[in-house]
Amino acid sequence: MPELPEVETALRGISPALFGRTICEVRVRNAALRWPVTEEVQQACGQRVRSLQRRAKYLLIALESGGLMIHLGMSGSLRICHEDDAPRKHDHVDIVLDGGRCLRFNDPRRFGLFCWWNPPVDQHPLLRHLGPEPLQDGFSGTYLYQKSRGRRGAVKNFIMDGKVVVGVGNIYASESLFMAGIHPARAAGRISAVRYDALVAAIRDVLKRAIAQGGTTLRDFVGSDGMPGYFAQELLVYDRGAVPCFQCGTPIRKKVIGQRSSFYCPRCQV
Ligand SMILES: [Zn+2]
Repeated sequence: MPELPEVETALRGISPALFGRTICEVRVRNAALRWPVTEEVQQACGQRVRSLQRRAKYLLIALESGGLMIHLGMSGSLRICHEDDAPRKHDHVDIVLDGGRCLRFNDPRRFGLFCWWNPPVDQHPLLRHLGPEPLQDGFSGTYLYQKSRGRRGAVKNFIMDGKVVVGVGNIYASESLFMAGIHPARAAGRISAVRYDALVAAIRDVLKRAIAQGGTTLRDFVGSDGMPGYFAQELLVYDRGAVPCFQCGTPIRKKVIGQRSSFYCPRCQV
């Protein structure tokens, strides 16, 4: 499933081809995504692309009035091609640009989203309840500390809650908790401000490294249905059950927390 780093990589990949271009046509080959693609998206035709940004795992293409929103779902990907290139299987939507290039949305499992939005985009029903972006200033150890007071649930579930902070998927949660030395099942409300400072630094570090690695795999095909290939080799605990901990040699443990597999070192993480 594409996570925040893959979506950021996709954004950086498509931006140069779209920015400043006028959308000539929106071709919908298959509207039957999880949320059906509606006629509203045709409002994009004739409008110039003013900016591209990411909010959580949503790609936002801002036009002169309103814009388009894309979510890659479980298996979506985007690529830039020529509008005349023959579509491949599962190429559901094209955004055709002046100059003949085209942004093509492919999604075998069709859990993705392709829709129109009216400003202000941050008030869109899918976006308005989202927590801060992990790589921006609103996210800090103090913020997590204050937000977690009185919470008895596991810290891992807490940081994976999109209302608390967006974009911390299962892999990144496991990795950052190991780096910060925090046990994933510890009650969120019982962690000190200093330890939350360390956790925020770890979350940022792991996401930035994944984004940097994602960028190295980028050509004309962006977004993927897995974690970036190179990054997988750098994982410290995730999917390393029973393998000795890099720091202390104790076998890494696997435990299901909030229905997701969690990996941790029972000695380094308390
Ligand atoms: Zn250890």
